[in-house]
Amino acid sequence: MKTLSILGSTGSIGTQALEVAKKHRFKIKALSAYSNAELLAAQVKEFGAEYACIFSSSAVKTLRDELSGSGVKILCGMDGLNEIASLDGVDIMLNSVVGMVGLEPTLTAISRGTDIALANKETLVAGGELVMRAAAEKGVNIYPVDSEHSAIFQCLQGNKRSQLRSIILTASGGPFFGRSRESLADVTVEQALAHPNWSMGKKITVDSATLMNKGLEFIEAIRLFDVSPEQIRIVVHRESVIHSAVEFDDGAVIAQLGVPDMKIPIQYALLYPDRLECPTKRLSLTDYGTLTFSDPDTETFDCLTACISAIKLGGTMPAMVNGANEEAVAAFLAGKIGFLDIGRIVSDVLTRFDKRDINCLGDVLEADKEARDHAACLIGR
Ligand code: NDP
Ligand code: MG
Repeated sequence: MKTLSILGSTGSIGTQALEVAKKHRFKIKALSAYSNAELLAAQVKEFGAEYACIFSSSAVKTLRDELSGSGVKILCGMDGLNEIASLDGVDIMLNSVVGMVGLEPTLTAISRGTDIALANKETLVAGGELVMRAAAEKGVNIYPVDSEHSAIFQCLQGNKRSQLRSIILTASGGPFFGRSRESLADVTVEQALAHPNWSMGKKITVDSATLMNKGLEFIEAIRLFDVSPEQIRIVVHRESVIHSAVEFDDGAVIAQLGVPDMKIPIQYALLYPDRLECPTKRLSLTDYGTLTFSDPDTETFDCLTACISAIKLGGTMPAMVNGANEEAVAAFLAGKIGFLDIGRIVSDVLTRFDKRDINCLGDVLEADKEARDHAACLIGR
């Protein structure tokens, strides 16, 4: 029986991971949420977790009340996440918080030698150099949860990494595929949250609508698989059946297919290398009939272009586009800016700031703060 801790257990990935954990009888050591104390307490009771961490200090009292007399250790804030990431006796920690707040606990878990199932892509975008270097030094495994990166990881199994020629990163295209830039000016929050294939948290759903998500994934793939930007081709594949593919030197292309259900990549990361029954539907190709492929529209979806430029520039630039995007998406969801402003704000940091090298966590945090402050100025105007 494997022992698991989850950062972000109340979210879309976290709740699906608990379904997988239930099916395969994982022992749950620790769970965490941002402010949803009621759901967190219910999960802690159901799975018998020993630790519960709530990030927001305003929700601590509710969590204490919900768990009073249970003997569960209650933690709070970043210190709490780091304490969970430091616990002994955990086989794997799933990081499924949203945003680059997940970077520090990832580094903490690596320093303790704990393997990580990583859904939190902002961690790799902002601090990927630090994460991958530390993981290699400590011999810690990072198992990708993002469906595309799980697909790439699966396609690489049993093949020589040195013979990997290129990666085909598939994209659903989001709800605004085929739309002109002008027609996106009045997009509402509700329209941006209506993803055609996947049901996910709000932030990643907006990222999917702007194609920022594909830009973040482009950077994530470079970090995880140590390839150059030129080795990745983004292909829009509306049906989300092929989750990504790899091409080897001999011209063979190997793809991973499945229904669009995150439980499959979550389970693969948690049970690797086992492939056991998963609580999901099976794929029937004839139900789809046709699979389609096209190039992304990088002019309309400028967030994607900004991410590709940022990783080519390197250093602090990926952290900066990520930080600006986190602020811009929050402002869009709060009705403070329009849909197209997200791309403008993200692109602006590339011209406003110069690239610096990243040597430590402080360098990432500083770049992130500068980008957020700049984005906040643009939002406030
Ligand atoms: P959700 O918004 O559904 O869930 C986020 C989780 O993190 C919740 O438990 C939330 O707690 C917690 N959380 C939010 N903000 C903070 C914070 N500042 N500090 C600590 N905890 C926080 O997101 P998703 O599950 O959709 O996504 C999680 C990550 O996985 C993201 O990085 C996303 O890009 C990535 N991902 C998600 C996919 C999906 O299908 N959902 C697919 C591929 C990748 P609370 O409930 O209290 O707010
Ligand atoms: Mg993805």
